[in-house]
Amino acid sequence: MTLKDKACIITGAASGIGNAIAHRYAKAGGKVAIADIKMDAAQAAADEIAKTYGTEAMAVEMDVTSEDAVNAGVQKVVDAWGGVDVLVSNAGIQIVNPVEDYAFADWKKMLAIHLDGAFLTSKACLPHMYAKGAGSIIFMGSVHSKEASPLKSAYVTAKHGLMGLSRVIAKEGGKKGVRTNVICPGFVKTPLVDKQIPEQAKELGISEDEVVSKVMLGQTVDTEFTTVEDIAEVALFFAAFETNALTGQSLVASHGWYMN
Ligand code: NAD
Repeated sequence: MTLKDKACIITGAASGIGNAIAHRYAKAGGKVAIADIKMDAAQAAADEIAKTYGTEAMAVEMDVTSEDAVNAGVQKVVDAWGGVDVLVSNAGIQIVNPVEDYAFADWKKMLAIHLDGAFLTSKACLPHMYAKGAGSIIFMGSVHSKEASPLKSAYVTAKHGLMGLSRVIAKEGGKKGVRTNVICPGFVKTPLVDKQIPEQAKELGISEDEVVSKVMLGQTVDTEFTTVEDIAEVALFFAAFETNALTGQSLVASHGWYMN
């Protein structure tokens, strides 16, 4: 599958899953914009990608919760590459706590990054995609777009919400050549997950090993983590797929945790 000369914006691509997607897209010939709040890491990622694959890559400063920052970042990409072909709305964080202890400020921060971020980046990219009559938007959902876990009220709510937004954009964009899909990974070993292991151990009163083997991987078919490379392959499939046959859908990649 090819993304030759496609302009791709990936939010949260300075780290983890987004970073692996940027590498995979560049390997497939795409031009990649690493949109993140961590500019040193974003620039390092862009430099490494340009050197490794000989493709164009740029770091774009973008707090996905800020409409002005999102619009400015998308405009930077349009000015450089003439448009946007692929948007991966991937930036995300995790905050775990039972509902009765969940700070309202944390709830709002979670919804802002995951939901406002997906809305604002889509809103900024869609006019450019509609102008070309083509585009692919991918939201980074989660198994938690379909399933719940204790301690993750805001995350589960936000990830379920992405499914609704994706389906609406799929319906609005269908006749204009724009597709939208959601990737739903199981647990992937990234800084976002590493941070949760001691936090969940403390909250649930179990060991860190038990958090991994029971809470995170207990319902997989083989007690294995999904990898960033696994998710990058799914992201390539959605981005490069050429027709509306595949829109408004979601795909779980999770070693069998949650089958539907
Ligand atoms: P990560 O912590 O490795 O990377 C997240 C990136 O998002 C970081 O580079 C961070 O700087 C960036 N970011 C955070 N807030 C931002 C903001 N306001 N604006 C722009 N960038 C911001 O995490 P990851 O595990 O790679 O997670 C990426 C996405 O995948 C998230 O949406 C997460 O919910 C989702 N996800 C992760 C897993 C997992 O197990 N790791 C599973 C399912 C879904």
